Amino acid sequence: MNLAGEIEQYLPQYLLELVKNICELAEQLGYQVYLVGGVVRDLLLGYANFDLDLAVEGDALTLAQQIATSPLLRQRIGKLVTHPQFGTAKFKCDDFTIDVATARGETYAKPGALPRVTPGILMNDLFRRDFSINAMAISLMPDNYGDLIDPYHGENDLEHRFIRILHPKSFSDDATRILRAIRYEQRLGFNLETGSARLLRESIPMLGTISSDRIRHELELILREEYPERVIRRLDELGVLAEISSALKGNGWIGEKFARARLLNKPSQLPSLYFCLLVHPLSEEEVEQLIHRLNIPGGLSRALRDTIHLKKELLDRDRYSMRPSEIYYLLDEYELLAIRANAVASESMTIRGHLQLFLKKLRYVKTLLNGEGLKELGISPGPDLGRILQALYRARLDGEVNTKEDEEKLALLMKLQIKKEEN
Ligand code: ATP
Ligand code: MG
Repeated sequence: MNLAGEIEQYLPQYLLELVKNICELAEQLGYQVYLVGGVVRDLLLGYANFDLDLAVEGDALTLAQQIATSPLLRQRIGKLVTHPQFGTAKFKCDDFTIDVATARGETYAKPGALPRVTPGILMNDLFRRDFSINAMAISLMPDNYGDLIDPYHGENDLEHRFIRILHPKSFSDDATRILRAIRYEQRLGFNLETGSARLLRESIPMLGTISSDRIRHELELILREEYPERVIRRLDELGVLAEISSALKGNGWIGEKFARARLLNKPSQLPSLYFCLLVHPLSEEEVEQLIHRLNIPGGLSRALRDTIHLKKELLDRDRYSMRPSEIYYLLDEYELLAIRANAVASESMTIRGHLQLFLKKLRYVKTLLNGEGLKELGISPGPDLGRILQALYRARLDGEVNTKEDEEKLALLMKLQIKKEEN
């Protein structure tokens, strides 16, 4: 099959030209260049993809070097970053990220270990990939421009909506593929091919051989999906979620909260917010276990812990009315993410209202007078000034002062009071 016409329609003109220039450099070096992986899949499906992966039969780093120094190319691309140990280079061009990698084969020292890279040709490179739909390439060289290279019949699987592994040991070689399979299945609305589904189930215990960081990375990819709750639910059904943490659940509660999170938050905030929502139903001990199992780094682990601490702290808070300043000082010390998570997940509408008030308004409140302004009113620096500033802040949160004059009046009144107390 030839896809020359499809490529021309799929990629913007400036990118087509860039790719053409890269291929000219490759030709001079005697290399072949192919479009591979996700972008080929998405081109055939007609879905957008801003990550172009180029596989090079030849040395990708030498080619990258030439790209970086070519007068024709270097102004059109962002900074070129190379990873010599992996034989890859990466750069941006407008909205697109372009990865150039040496086509290679891989061997595994033991199941679950990171692959050892050996130089190979395109066929080997495709053989090391996860699924047939991700193991296709398109030639970009002038002689056979647009030819689809599809040794595992990925195109046929796209048509029949199948996620299929390339060989029976695939899931046990690398159990992160279990998570990847479900991610694509749910994203694309595909089914696992029967044999692959059986091998997936059998390989679930192999997740135990995968490092914390790799599991966490796959979980993060899941949480960047448009509807991660579908993936989480399916992982739960299959018993995969329990293999990662017995406390995690993928039920309707998660679905409802994730949907509410999308309504209330910016897309960029969603992945880490979803993470907090996942742990919201857990106990402190279960969260600690998860943080350990996934080696979750500082910032996010603080947010996860805060999420459940705040959940506890908020219990019963809707029995009494709360002044804005009380809400502010209750929440002030918590990670914003934890507040956002509880604003989505709390069962009480009153509490959700309080948290939203903090997020939308209270956390931005400022007094008009600052320390300097108070000094001009004759209040000398020291603990008294601090007390007065705090009182002003409280009054402003509660709407008791509105103008600068209000604040000055209150400050002077307090100054008098303090003097009285002293005498
Ligand atoms: P996405 O749209 O999710 O980015 P993608 O196909 O581009 O999909 P990446 O995670 O960016 O996926 O990986 C790029 C390619 O590398 C994949 O298409 C796949 O062929 C290959 N790949 C990634 N991870 C694995 C893995 N664990 N085992 C085998 N191949 C993998
Ligand atoms: Mg990708």
